[in-house]
Amino acid sequence: MKSKAMVLTEFDQPLTEKEIKIPKLQQEGEVLVRITASGVCGSDAYMWHGHDPRTPLPIILGHEGVGEVVEVKGAKKSIAGRELKSGDPILWHRGVSCGKCFACKIDKEPSLCSNRWVYGITRGCDEYPYLLGGYASHIILSPNTDIFHLPENVSPETLVSVSCSGSTTAHAFELAPVKFGDNVVIQGPGPLGIYAVVMAKYSGADEIIVIGGTEKRLEICREVGATRVINRHKTSEEERQEMILEYTRGRGAEAVFEMAGSPAAVAEGIHYVKKGGTYASAGFGEPRGTVELDCFQDIGNRNISYQGVWVSDVSHTFQALKIALKYQDLFREMVTHVFSLSEATQALEKMDKKEAVKAVIKPE
Ligand SMILES: [Zn+2]
Ligand SMILES: [Zn+2]
Repeated sequence: MKSKAMVLTEFDQPLTEKEIKIPKLQQEGEVLVRITASGVCGSDAYMWHGHDPRTPLPIILGHEGVGEVVEVKGAKKSIAGRELKSGDPILWHRGVSCGKCFACKIDKEPSLCSNRWVYGITRGCDEYPYLLGGYASHIILSPNTDIFHLPENVSPETLVSVSCSGSTTAHAFELAPVKFGDNVVIQGPGPLGIYAVVMAKYSGADEIIVIGGTEKRLEICREVGATRVINRHKTSEEERQEMILEYTRGRGAEAVFEMAGSPAAVAEGIHYVKKGGTYASAGFGEPRGTVELDCFQDIGNRNISYQGVWVSDVSHTFQALKIALKYQDLFREMVTHVFSLSEATQALEKMDKKEAVKAVIKPE
């Protein structure tokens, strides 16, 4: 049996369509999966351009996936302890941590595992098991992958973003908890920002203010619960500052979530944090430049916490999945473009140009 895959062989060039022989599963607990939907992440476009120093070539991109079990080598259980069988609809956590290092064992921070690797990001496709990315008809999940067994009849495209943007946003909310009545500012109305709106809403936030530059994305944020949206192309930084002070009764926000991955957003957003509040930065998946902050004015004398958010662990994917399943109608809004597998390069382009909020590839 063969898998069709769209392979990144050269940066900035169209992906190459290849047929890869599906190898015989070798290790106990490996799972061969037929992919039903694969999310295209903003960071995939970054990798495509060769801007992520981690990218090995050739590689099958795609770290957000939903699929159906084809074959299990020996036995493998879902995260809830159910033995997986052929035909089961599943979603898997994108990162695989070792469970043995200091971060995993002592700090209990699998996101910071020194041996963590990620489907579609860390490993190339020129050695066993070859199929480790989402832009393919099949993927082989390694034995220590965390797998969720999905309910029947959920549309897979609605759920792809759970394993990356949803999960990372849940991590941000764990590190910067929003309490009932808090005011929240979200910078960046992409998939992370949309999840942040929903999570802020269901945490009981009062004002949920989203700043972004794409009208379509801002509209979706409003539909899923933002109380105010600000288009940064139609306002100056001074105007935004005034608007946020007005919306937060002159105090600023208890939590500001940076979901934009732009140093300029950080320099601006830090000023929207209320004294004693938290600035949580979740938008940087790769190096994107530096920012100058005044250690006294911006941070020190305002008692502000600057909180980095690096990826997520399976507990966050669990939380994001719960939310996405509960509010499927809201998350369906996010999927603006669906492509066939052969059109994977177009899907990347759409995400790259921010024309899609979430592009999804559905292998035929
Ligand atoms: Zn991602
Ligand atoms: Zn580890």
